[in-house]
Amino acid sequence: LGGSISRALQQMSNATIIDEKVLNECLNEITRALLQSDVQFKLVRDMQTNIKNIINLDDLAAGHNKRRIIQQAIFNELCKMLDPGKPSFTPKKGKTSVIMFVGLQGSGKTTTCTKYAYYHQKKGWKPALVCADTFRAGAFDQLKQNATKAKIPFYGSYTESDPVKIAVDGVDTFKKDNHDLIIVDTSGRHKQEASLFEEMRQVAEATNPDLVVFVMDSSIGQAAFDQAQAFKQSVSVGSVIVTKMDGHAKGGGALSAVAATKSPVIFIGTGEHMDEFEVFDVKPFVSRLLGMGDWSGFMDKIQEVVPMDQQPELLQKLSEGNFTLRIMYEQFQNLLKMGPIGQVFSMLPGFSQELMPQGREKESQAKIKRYMTMMDSMTNEELDSTNPKLMNESRIMRIARGSGRQVRDVMEMLEEYKRLAKIWSKMKGLKIPKKGDMSAL
Ligand code: GDP
Ligand code: MG
Repeated sequence: LGGSISRALQQMSNATIIDEKVLNECLNEITRALLQSDVQFKLVRDMQTNIKNIINLDDLAAGHNKRRIIQQAIFNELCKMLDPGKPSFTPKKGKTSVIMFVGLQGSGKTTTCTKYAYYHQKKGWKPALVCADTFRAGAFDQLKQNATKAKIPFYGSYTESDPVKIAVDGVDTFKKDNHDLIIVDTSGRHKQEASLFEEMRQVAEATNPDLVVFVMDSSIGQAAFDQAQAFKQSVSVGSVIVTKMDGHAKGGGALSAVAATKSPVIFIGTGEHMDEFEVFDVKPFVSRLLGMGDWSGFMDKIQEVVPMDQQPELLQKLSEGNFTLRIMYEQFQNLLKMGPIGQVFSMLPGFSQELMPQGREKESQAKIKRYMTMMDSMTNEELDSTNPKLMNESRIMRIARGSGRQVRDVMEMLEEYKRLAKIWSKMKGLKIPKKGDMSAL
């Protein structure tokens, strides 16, 4: 896919005159590529129309960087399509919220319920899980196992066959227990589809959830729109989680799910494990959809703002796959500067949403400075290692004491390092484009 888009754009830039015909050829090529990425035909067509309205052929002929303009226009259009225009309901810590998960069997609901609970638990919430899937044999055992592993309270039954009763009992129990995040897992299959949707309607009516999350497997292809719409018609879906993004699927179905439910994507699942779960970030997602890789936007920006001879050797180190604490330190420095390079770093996956959420920059900066102070108390060996296991308990205590912080602060910082290291390990083997050479994308 990436290849064909690059090719299409290459053809454009080779053409001496950009006329309607060349633009159409280019758009057709991209259309084919997006269809292969499971983007719904109607959405692709809408995008095509919008692009044609945006792109001014006269401007292009006047010697602008045509590839860049078209690439940017397509990129922006796809980003817009992932934004339903209204934010998802966000639960508040300390205030009870009931979140109901729906989706077909195998989409990853039970796994995602636990991931969602675990994600919030790490941030100090009091989540709890309710298994209202009485259809699938072993459903309760699966949830119980996941919950036990994550040390999250759970509720379910081996004998009760009414999912509505279990859901209501579970939610009531946890409300009394002052849990702030009560997550209801549901069934995904029925002998008759109509009865599944009726069951979802009843569970929702009885538990009155603050948010219904539609869980979608990224590999379901063109079926995404109808599936999402069917759920939306029976319960008021308010957000989407796309799973199995670690596989081959590019996840174009997410655009369909957003269009069908008019709800944003909030998280993506990137593996079977509990912590393989990321806050959804539009730009890297669209890059991937276009086959440009998570890093193209970043590389692009680097080309733009940093002269080639000053481009940090950091990139080289990263492409070698060694994300050390020292590199994290250097990046924090960049982030704090908030000059052009700081803005570049704030675009990165993992940095933008988690570390520097919009509107909370002051808080984030304080946190980053705190992390840096603790890293100042580390040895060179620790900073240059890619193995945080090197730091045993006594070292952690020393670092905490040396920086006037608590042991749990050091642990938090090391967790952050692990999270970023995992995301950044994807950069391994990345080709670093030469100045002006966009074909590497
Ligand atoms: P449910 O039927 O909707 O409850 O789906 P499950 O949670 O039981 O998941 C079905 C399968 O998909 C299980 O084998 C999960 O381990 C797997 N799975 C769920 N999410 C992901 C993911 O993000 N990546 C991968 N690779 N597998 C996943
Ligand atoms: Mg399940």
